[in-house]
Amino acid sequence: MTAPIAASRPPETAALRPDPVALPRDPGGPANLIGMPRDALARALAGAGVPAGQLRMRAGQIWHWLYVRGAGDFAEMTNLAKPLRARLAECFRLDRPRVVTRQISADGTRKYLMRIDGGHEVETVYIPDEDRGTLCISSQVGCTLTCSFCHTGTQRLVRNLTAAEIVGQILVARDDLQDWGHRPDGRRRITNIVLMGMGEPLYNFEAVRDAMRIAMDGEGISLSRRRITLSTSGVVPMIARAGEEIGCLLAISLHATTDEVRDRLVPINRKWNIAQLIEACRSYPRLSNAERITFEYVMLKGVNDSDEDARRLVRLIAGIPAKINLIPFNPWPGAPYQRSDWDRIEAFAEIVNRAGYASPVRTPRGEDIMAACGQLKSASGRTRRSRPGQVS
Ligand code: SAH
Ligand code: SF4
Repeated sequence: MTAPIAASRPPETAALRPDPVALPRDPGGPANLIGMPRDALARALAGAGVPAGQLRMRAGQIWHWLYVRGAGDFAEMTNLAKPLRARLAECFRLDRPRVVTRQISADGTRKYLMRIDGGHEVETVYIPDEDRGTLCISSQVGCTLTCSFCHTGTQRLVRNLTAAEIVGQILVARDDLQDWGHRPDGRRRITNIVLMGMGEPLYNFEAVRDAMRIAMDGEGISLSRRRITLSTSGVVPMIARAGEEIGCLLAISLHATTDEVRDRLVPINRKWNIAQLIEACRSYPRLSNAERITFEYVMLKGVNDSDEDARRLVRLIAGIPAKINLIPFNPWPGAPYQRSDWDRIEAFAEIVNRAGYASPVRTPRGEDIMAACGQLKSASGRTRRSRPGQVS
């Protein structure tokens, strides 16, 4: 099967911007303390009548319960006096996503379908490795973009996730993995986070930033910023802000070496092309050999996998501390592409390697449960009618 090609480039329209985003249920009632930045948490406590002189201490105690101990209920917070716990329970919620289904792959990968406010659903994937455990989290229900090889791209954007729902995915996975407090073997199960689930994280910037700041807080979940990787399809104007305000590692869904091909595969390229994207990468804060950019490159048979592509790729990124992550295409029902053959992937990797870049081929994980990259899709919302090649 050959890849479909958009016959002509659609006009630049406002449709490139994210769809209007339906907001989660009006909190109107009690506010959710999960996902609140620390200063907002202290302000919320003040609003509930906690005396000014106690605010810092109380906020610190609650933070510890939420993010070190994993408390899901004020009743568990036993170092707070009973009347205070009762008052907190009156004023606030501690809402997390609920697990609807959990599937465990033969290779140990776990895929969770989680339900959030409004009955929407998102997927979160845990990938255990010998030296690490990576949680792949979602930032939106669906996606506004329509990358033609991505399953999520067939689902319209339903809404952005809140910071509570983003950090909530970590809390829920830690519950399931019994990854709270001090584990007997002293090892954590979730050591890394990748924002590579459903959605485009840079189209939900504030919520992603607030959630990642909570994940990095040294008195809470305490993950190093170097263990968090944000993957973007190329929202160029937001890339520098991600570096400055989150400080995490960056992954770029490059996937093609000419604008002509990238326009078809990653339609946001029609708005910000390869040259602009690479320029934003060169200016990414703190870029160094210790903090390299990952360029993700999905291997599509006969589309972007030639030797010439490999050579163009190394020329494009020359001078950028980088590694190239080759992702064998993961098929999904009705997908218009095929995975490149293994010898083609190896030949491509060899060229990239010889140019001095690490080029690990990402082993597909959790394929038997459709948990691999680009296979995620929830039943929430409608499926698009027209695609691929369409920009929205
Ligand atoms: N929206 C963000 C992050 C989520 S996708 C982004 O696009 O970067 C995570 C990675 O999986 C991206 O590099 C994406 O391009 C890739 N991907 C999507 N569909 C895929 C598929 N079917 N096979 C392999 N990789 C895929
Ligand atoms: Fe959205 Fe990323 Fe999928 Fe593109 S690859 S449709 S940006 S989730």
